[in-house]
Amino acid sequence: MSFPSRLLDGYRAFRTGRLTTEQARYGELAEHGQSPEIMVIGCCDSRVSPEVIFDARPGELFVVRNVANLVPPYTPDGAQRAVSAALEFAVQALKVKHIIVLGHAHCGGIRAYTEPGSPLSPGDFIGKWMALIAPAAEAVGPAEGYRSREDYLTHLEQVSIAKTLDNLMTFPYVRSAVERGTLTLHGAYFGVANGRLSVRDTASGAFADVASQD
Ligand SMILES: [Zn+2]
Repeated sequence: MSFPSRLLDGYRAFRTGRLTTEQARYGELAEHGQSPEIMVIGCCDSRVSPEVIFDARPGELFVVRNVANLVPPYTPDGAQRAVSAALEFAVQALKVKHIIVLGHAHCGGIRAYTEPGSPLSPGDFIGKWMALIAPAAEAVGPAEGYRSREDYLTHLEQVSIAKTLDNLMTFPYVRSAVERGTLTLHGAYFGVANGRLSVRDTASGAFADVASQD
């Protein structure tokens, strides 16, 4: 099986385009190591690449992506935990100043959780992973209480971001860095259809469109 030609074409475009302007930066990053100030926890969804949305340069964003941008609560049980390992490295070693939990509209993982009859996949892992949505689903209440199914899913996607921020605070080193004022946690939400980004207000929990704040 051959390597996807789409990727080879993309790499050639990168090499003759962006790499020519970023070469010095790559060299510097190779020599001195990375020191990103921002960690992003995003969804695997192919439409919501944080580097694209935030127009990031090499070395700027430390990114972890998983289905539905979730962080399980702190559980030091010896199991191999990918998100916790990345979080520990970002906070303890890189000492990032910001962690952004980036949710998005039309999240397949969140929708699948609300449709128990049609799981996202028939395998062993996704059902258990998506159970992390349960506290958010409980908080938003039944779908029947909303004007439309889309309203319900948007609310669930956004409350799930808040629950993930709560889970981040269960990690002792995250909590202490936040309390010291060296780390700030943020929630953000990307509208896939319209490309709009909303940021969560910490006090009210409401998401406000950043474009309208220009
Ligand atoms: Zn998603």
